[in-house]
Amino acid sequence: MPEQVETLKKQFQTDLAGVKDLAALSALRDKYMGRKSGLVHALIKQIGRVPPEERRAFGQAVNELKTYVESSLERLRAELEAHAQAEQLERERVDITLPGLRPRFGHLHPITRMRQRIEDIFVAMGYTVEDGPEVETSFYNFDALNIPPGHPAREAQDTLYLSSDIALRTQTSTVQIRTMERRRPPLRIIAPGKVFRRDTPDPTHNPMFYQVEGLTVDRNIHMGHLKGTLQEFVRRMFGPDAKTRFRPSYFPFVEPGAEVDYSCFLCRGQGCRVCKGAGWIELGGCGMVHPKVLRGVGIDPEEFTGFAFGLGIDRMAALIYGIDDIRLLYENDTRFLEQFGL
Ligand SMILES: [Zn+2]
Repeated sequence: MPEQVETLKKQFQTDLAGVKDLAALSALRDKYMGRKSGLVHALIKQIGRVPPEERRAFGQAVNELKTYVESSLERLRAELEAHAQAEQLERERVDITLPGLRPRFGHLHPITRMRQRIEDIFVAMGYTVEDGPEVETSFYNFDALNIPPGHPAREAQDTLYLSSDIALRTQTSTVQIRTMERRRPPLRIIAPGKVFRRDTPDPTHNPMFYQVEGLTVDRNIHMGHLKGTLQEFVRRMFGPDAKTRFRPSYFPFVEPGAEVDYSCFLCRGQGCRVCKGAGWIELGGCGMVHPKVLRGVGIDPEEFTGFAFGLGIDRMAALIYGIDDIRLLYENDTRFLEQFGL
């Protein structure tokens, strides 16, 4: 083998021994096999300048070197790649025997579940669910509901005012007015939602709580329909034995007005801790929609009559779930709320 070729082969072998990674291998390939300045290609170009008698032997030697360099580079590339892959696999090794992280499952808030139960019962009776704003004008919160200026319900101690004419709604009855303005009878709607009062929180009071409003307006609606509807509601909510009791009461937007109680779901009227010995639990207020309220939204009270009711969702949830302090419902303490998962 010509000396020049021999020297280059040795040089290549030394260089090759120093290659530890694929980047160095790529540099080495350029150094020897590069089209422009590769050392092996430089030798190939020399073949033509070698004296004719030596040319054949020189050319053969250069070709052998080229084959040797190519196969050496290829062999090392395969080795380095296999090594790199093995390293990567080791680095990314996953121990599938390690215990996994169990995702935490949430569940609906007790108030939401209560609201959905109530909605399901009324929707099954043909009611639709309406919604309304929580920030209201005095017109919707008071005037349209026959609560004139000077009425105790308007006093600042009950209402959270945002300005002289705008307040957080104190009752969901506002949705009655908004619905009747928009739609004509026959109407059967419920409107669950938050209401706000300026109240000091204690185990049975919270400045924000949930009510569900109900409204039916049609021809020939009378008190019997109201009583039958609420009786059916408590029967579906508390069981077939549940009874209702109506006590005369006063609300400006109904005439006549009543408070409705239901027989205690725990003692069935015998008297217990839940009903405080009374055998009855307060469900809410109700009555026949006041003619002034109907007239105010352009419905003729001679042609149409209606009934309305407002039920407290929080207290119902507190009693059913055995919660003795309704403030707990709004503290977002998951240790408390977790108890009410399905
Ligand atoms: Zn009881």
